[in-house]
Amino acid sequence: MNCPECGAPDSLCQTRFDELLVLEFTDAGYGAVHHLTVATYMLQHSSKLTREGWLHERELLREFLIANKPPAFIRKQNKDLVDSGKRKFKIKSRDGLPVINKTIWTKTILDARTENAEVYCEDVTAWARSVLEDVQGLEV
Ligand SMILES: [Zn+2]
Repeated sequence: MNCPECGAPDSLCQTRFDELLVLEFTDAGYGAVHHLTVATYMLQHSSKLTREGWLHERELLREFLIANKPPAFIRKQNKDLVDSGKRKFKIKSRDGLPVINKTIWTKTILDARTENAEVYCEDVTAWARSVLEDVQGLEV
């Protein structure tokens, strides 16, 4: 069965996501796009998020890709927000219901090739850009 959220064949996206996180944590070259991988995957799998959490992730992706802010800068800026003790809203979904009703996407996580770090970072960035475009202006 295809993933009901991102449409990946045989729902391979979750396995792939787990594998890529391991790769990113073990090799800094791949880890350079870790912030994009997580935000993009979460945006495509909105059942993992609350509405506020989803909007927050979309804004983050926008700041990374459009405003070109480095992850460290955003982490600092959002420190209070991301610190779950101080955050005013919940990020993780409790009901597991998708925030958005979208199953057709330009790209999925399966489009990221892993031959080397350079190709990987390029592909993850392209995937992130396509997802941001796909959800740009989407009312939730
Ligand atoms: Zn999926």
